[in-house]
Amino acid sequence: MYKYDGSKYHALTTIHELGHTLGLPHTFETSSSAKHQFYQGYTDNIMDYNDKLDPSGINQDIQLNEFYENNLASFKWQWDIIRNDRSIY
Ligand SMILES: [Zn+2]
Repeated sequence: MYKYDGSKYHALTTIHELGHTLGLPHTFETSSSAKHQFYQGYTDNIMDYNDKLDPSGINQDIQLNEFYENNLASFKWQWDIIRNDRSIY
């Protein structure tokens, strides 16, 4: 859905923050509105982060999310959250 270019990091941040204003949680956080939860940094979703956390908590070195570099996606359930939010009509 979104094309990632290394020089457009700020544009991606803007899209990510716009997602929050439309009611989207991070993909790695529990939320009453999120249908699924993923480890941080393991998806190509716009509401994920560019750095990954080791789910085991053993490796604390910052590693980049290798899925984040190209086409940034959004899930259908995220579009459903936006569509079903009556406060933005
Ligand atoms: Zn965020």
